[in-house]
Amino acid sequence: MVKGVVQGVGFRPHVYKLALERALGGWVKNDASGVTIEAEGPGGEVEAFVKDISRRRPAAARIDSVSSFSLPVSGKKTFFIAKSGGRAPASAMIPADLALCTDCRRELLDPSDRRHLYPFTNCTNCGPRYTIVKTVPYDRPFTTMAGFAMCPGCLREYGDPLDRRFHAQPNACPVCGPSVTLKAGGKISSGPAALEKTAQLLISGRVGALQSLGGFHLACRADDEGAIAALRRAKRRPHKPFAVMLPSIAAVREFCLVSKLEAAALASPEAPVVMLRRRSRAFESAAPGLSKLGVMLPYTPLHAALFSLLEKKGFSGPLVMTSGNFRDEPICKDLPEALKRLSGAASFTLSHDRPIHNRADDSVAFEAGGALRLARRARGFVPAAVKLASGGRSVLACGADLKNAFCLTRGQEAFLSQHIGDLAEPQNQDFFRETLFNLGRLLKVSPAVTAHDLHPDYASTAIALGLPGKKLAVQHHAAHALSVAAEYGLEEPFLGISFDGTGYGSDGRSWGSEFLVFEGRTWRRAGHLKYFALPGGDLCAFELWRPALALIKAAFGPGWVSSAGKLFRAVPPGKLLTVERMIDAGVNCPQTSGMGRLLDAFSFIAGVRTEATYEAQGPMELESLLPGGKAGGAYRFNTSEASGCLEIDPAPAVKAAVADRRAGRPAACISTRLHSGLARAAVENAFAVARGAGIKTVCLSGGVFQNRTLLELVTAGLKNKGFRVYSNKLVPANDGGIALGQAWYALKGYKQKI
Ligand code: ZN
Ligand code: ZN
Ligand code: FE
Repeated sequence: MVKGVVQGVGFRPHVYKLALERALGGWVKNDASGVTIEAEGPGGEVEAFVKDISRRRPAAARIDSVSSFSLPVSGKKTFFIAKSGGRAPASAMIPADLALCTDCRRELLDPSDRRHLYPFTNCTNCGPRYTIVKTVPYDRPFTTMAGFAMCPGCLREYGDPLDRRFHAQPNACPVCGPSVTLKAGGKISSGPAALEKTAQLLISGRVGALQSLGGFHLACRADDEGAIAALRRAKRRPHKPFAVMLPSIAAVREFCLVSKLEAAALASPEAPVVMLRRRSRAFESAAPGLSKLGVMLPYTPLHAALFSLLEKKGFSGPLVMTSGNFRDEPICKDLPEALKRLSGAASFTLSHDRPIHNRADDSVAFEAGGALRLARRARGFVPAAVKLASGGRSVLACGADLKNAFCLTRGQEAFLSQHIGDLAEPQNQDFFRETLFNLGRLLKVSPAVTAHDLHPDYASTAIALGLPGKKLAVQHHAAHALSVAAEYGLEEPFLGISFDGTGYGSDGRSWGSEFLVFEGRTWRRAGHLKYFALPGGDLCAFELWRPALALIKAAFGPGWVSSAGKLFRAVPPGKLLTVERMIDAGVNCPQTSGMGRLLDAFSFIAGVRTEATYEAQGPMELESLLPGGKAGGAYRFNTSEASGCLEIDPAPAVKAAVADRRAGRPAACISTRLHSGLARAAVENAFAVARGAGIKTVCLSGGVFQNRTLLELVTAGLKNKGFRVYSNKLVPANDGGIALGQAWYALKGYKQKI
């Protein structure tokens, strides 16, 4: 019995070949728990065969366990692959979608091959998996390929144990498989003509909706300002960065710096979007104001065929490939959805008739601290499990409202859903329920506990409370810290440093710069940024001068106008006065300790941004100015203590930054001093808290730690002081990873220490 990711990855033919090598008799089959094998043969051959199974495995397989026992000899002389079946408990795992492999790419680009430019080419090493699967076991009738009967050529490959396509469930060719359809200006074409025409339309600067693996992309030339401007208008995304696709790593290197780790990620079977440092500001309008560009390689045969046609027509530059959705809605997965929701943005659609069962956005990864980390976990990674150090009864953790992803546990495995998105958008709540149903069916678990965020008004909380069974509310930043503890199986005591935009605190205020001590299955708040006002509440994430005004007034007192009034020249005076009065009267001014809002305010003070059009735009642009050359003089933060909790006061840093701005120092200098000052404050306060509690281990989490500079500075500073430092890799540090922490909280039975 073999468990792990062993279905849909060429495992049975692999076992078959191993059995042939040793001339064994018996069979191999898929069942609901994994792969079961019966083998008999002379002497030590069977034992050697069992060792082979653990030692040698197909590229995309992951073996979690191999268990074996003896059976009476039955005289089998031949080995065969038996029909799937069995009533064993469900623990088989569906593999994640796999990017086009090199063998299939070669066939795709070979004019003499029967699959030349065929956009649905795949084999046991590559192709769609999770996105087409309806239920386990992973066999063609249970996928969206069920409606396509294989032609004699494909059947022969499918039935030949020595063929690369042996039991490749989505196997297809131009004769029998799915095909593409282009709809452009009232005209419809299909097959190779549709691809050819699509390439022409893209080259001519049109924006199109292309159906990919987990949903639609909106695509256009990345070097066409007009096309990008049209796309931005239609999506109402004036600045938010768009990912681009380039045909090869060599092409990527022309525009971006690519490390070894980044190159491996680009070319991996998961094929995420990788955030790369730009060499120049080429394709500035794809990601305005940012030093990094999100890049991916063609990961489906459709992309590869399209790029080959584009190159033939003389275009090899990048295409913008951004999620085919409108603002924060779910990614469109079929043509009716795309026509309804993307028609304002796209002038043509290229769709296909292989239905997408589970929609999944592109994953996003970046390198920091010498490791690859996920910022968005979706296609290619879902439904791979995060292995836990210990298990328990199944938990459903509903995550938070921004960048939502939920988590289901089964034994010692945690299955995170693909990125769902912002749950304030009702369509994403439907996407949540649809995915919970689909993933629950694949995993066959019924959760004993449902964990959710402490926030009483979150949609994720409402969804949780609407489900049957026991509920558990988990504080947001405790969950962030525990997402790291879960990834590494850390035991207490440890210190969690959770820096993010906002999360509901146990005192009912908005938290976001938390030093949390975990010991003996309890946690307590041991330090945070001094509360400051958010005049207008959520508006502060977009009108960055608002939190800046609150911090400047707190730092300078009533005389703030003479010291910092000039910074607010771009703000209408009437509005400024109203907001100042709001702060003075404490009206509509929720208190926060959010690091995200502090960084927003500094991006305003540095002169980088007055208003933002997407979350964290100011801080991301501020970080993009780094490295800013030699700018000594880290900004200072004061620390005081009240009833066992440290309070970090940013007033000296705010004053120094205002002085730098007034002295005409460049924003890059302010950014450098801010980043080093913040990192130093984080390290010093962590040290102060940990020293008393005998703590040697620190977990860093929260969206702010996607800031590579901060993550690396804080990590280095803590290591210098002798700490072991851990941060998220497998799940996002932002709220996309929080469900893992909630699940771990429930499994381990954590409680807040009052
Ligand atoms: Zn392949
Ligand atoms: Zn065929
Ligand atoms: Fe958060």
